[in-house]
Amino acid sequence: MVEIKTDEALDAMREAGRVVARALAAARETAAVGVSLRELDEAARAVLDEAGASSPFLGYQPSFAGTPFPAVLCTSVNDAIVHGVPTDYRLRDGDLVSVDCGAELDGWTGDAAISFTVGTPRPADLELIEATRRALDAGIAAAVPGNRMGDISHAIGSVARSVGCGMPADFGGHGIGRRMHEDPHVPNRGRPGRGFPLRHGLTLAIEPMLMAGGRDAYYTGPDGWTLLTTDGSRAAHIEHTVAITDDGPRVLTLP
Ligand code: MG
Ligand code: MG
Repeated sequence: MVEIKTDEALDAMREAGRVVARALAAARETAAVGVSLRELDEAARAVLDEAGASSPFLGYQPSFAGTPFPAVLCTSVNDAIVHGVPTDYRLRDGDLVSVDCGAELDGWTGDAAISFTVGTPRPADLELIEATRRALDAGIAAAVPGNRMGDISHAIGSVARSVGCGMPADFGGHGIGRRMHEDPHVPNRGRPGRGFPLRHGLTLAIEPMLMAGGRDAYYTGPDGWTLLTTDGSRAAHIEHTVAITDDGPRVLTLP
């Protein structure tokens, strides 16, 4: 079922989204060569605690997972695409990190992700991150009343394919609101003019995941959570929670 939000609900989701943005900023500021992924998680957790927000990630256990998720962040490094678990791994020079965070505040949820490099970046990684950002921007630009879901999907997929990147099949964005994962699904590839009609009050998490190797193949790591590229190439993931409004897309997880 798809819930169309009132304008008051959109304002409340914006407050949850602000907390997400602050938590991601704290994780990014903490990240440096030699810092552990667990320390990034602790930095984000402090922001959620201070805001009185809870984490929709912590304890999350969908059907595919054998164990509840143990952290408030997903931290996915290099060939990890999404769902990486914050461990004692210490960041190394040139690592590409994707950090995903959610927050629940006053009954409403926000969800966003950033990708960045640590230390001296590889030029190819900066290009991959830039392409992922452009894919997200294209998806957001298509999130307007009168369009359909396929317009968002097609916009994202077109950018990814134009730079020769792969995208994990089956994974994409989602409706969001009272819970982190709601209907409808937001595929990262699709046909324009098809699918769910977009209208004022619909809220979506839009989240391109690009894999530099150009293949769509991925596998789940031994922790049962982390998705990794099969060819070992690096991946980037950037996400915003976006409201479709009659005044244009409203990004709810901006700082
Ligand atoms: Mg997310
Ligand atoms: Mg999401």
